[in-house]
Amino acid sequence: MKQIRLSDTVISVPMPIFLVIEDVGWWQGIDGSLRNEPYRNRFARRHCLADYQALTRLAKRLSMRIALGMVMGEWDRTNFLKDVAGATWMGKAWDNKVNQGPWLEETAQYLRDHNHFLEIALHGICHEYWQDGQMQRSEFHDQDGRMRPRPVIQRHLEAFATLLEQNGWHGFPRLFIPPALNHSFGNKDNSIQAVLHSFGIKFVTTRFDRANQYSAPAHQNLTWEGEVGLLERGSSPVSWDRAASPPVWPGTNPILPLHWGNLLHREPQRNNEIVDSWADMLLAKSAGLDCILAEDLASCWRQAAVFYLADLQRNQRGMTIDIRTIPDLSIFSGPFFVKTHERQSKSWNCSGAEIISSKRGTDHINILKILPNKEKEVVNIFPA
Ligand SMILES: [Zn+2]
Repeated sequence: MKQIRLSDTVISVPMPIFLVIEDVGWWQGIDGSLRNEPYRNRFARRHCLADYQALTRLAKRLSMRIALGMVMGEWDRTNFLKDVAGATWMGKAWDNKVNQGPWLEETAQYLRDHNHFLEIALHGICHEYWQDGQMQRSEFHDQDGRMRPRPVIQRHLEAFATLLEQNGWHGFPRLFIPPALNHSFGNKDNSIQAVLHSFGIKFVTTRFDRANQYSAPAHQNLTWEGEVGLLERGSSPVSWDRAASPPVWPGTNPILPLHWGNLLHREPQRNNEIVDSWADMLLAKSAGLDCILAEDLASCWRQAAVFYLADLQRNQRGMTIDIRTIPDLSIFSGPFFVKTHERQSKSWNCSGAEIISSKRGTDHINILKILPNKEKEVVNIFPA
């Protein structure tokens, strides 16, 4: 816990909570893994526009631009993936006609219009890799965390960009979520982070204990390689193939990793029942001093950097937050949040930073948004 107690006040640097939803983008629900096709969501029906509308509803309720770990293979409008080695189970015979219909443009338009609620993140083309026609886990690394050859990865990332373009989405994602948690880091210029960064990726979340670590992470839950920040994903609180899951609070980690089917109902018109129960739980659990719902992924990474790396001390009047321990990277610079609990409403002041907003939460909680000065120094927060 990152809190200090004054006589009638508690000041806290809360842990961010950010929702990352994996395996979004399939049209087919069927888990094809027994027949050389990808592990999809093992969901009892095809996916549809309502499955995205439910995510927007959840994002609005949480005031969070949630991240969608997209698999884009079934969005291929021209079957160009037949020329991308290892991308699909059909190889040169790839034909996506079963997924080519008016729902593509309808949903692409929807996602363009709701881009401020739903951020497209990179998960993969078809999640796995097909070597000589045989499925292997997974697309960018094998199960021992050995990176696939660099040109293969580059070709797959270019193909992902083409799939986005085909569907009218501009720019490359900022976040990568390695499929099946097969990943590696710590080998600097030879790392996949270097390749990902050349495409625009700035953020990665995965399970560190499942990754091939060429060198140890800077902190057990947060590290960086070049300009890319890697945040521990933790275990998902719900099995990947559990549809319509009741809400579960893990509460131990900034990232809340769910799979698309967890939030969906077999009857699409009932999706809202599922996402509303998750929203109710997350809003209730994050209302106290310990946690805060992150506005978006950049805000989550910044808050996590302060939460994990800054040194907190009680001083005579309030709290000292030494942020000089946070590396000078653009992904970690910008505002972060502090929560206070005070019986009598106070106004707050600080040095080394500026309080850019102050918001009342429930139950005597006050939420301060703090922007450190450019020349990074110690931040002091104290009652005015
Ligand atoms: Zn996945």
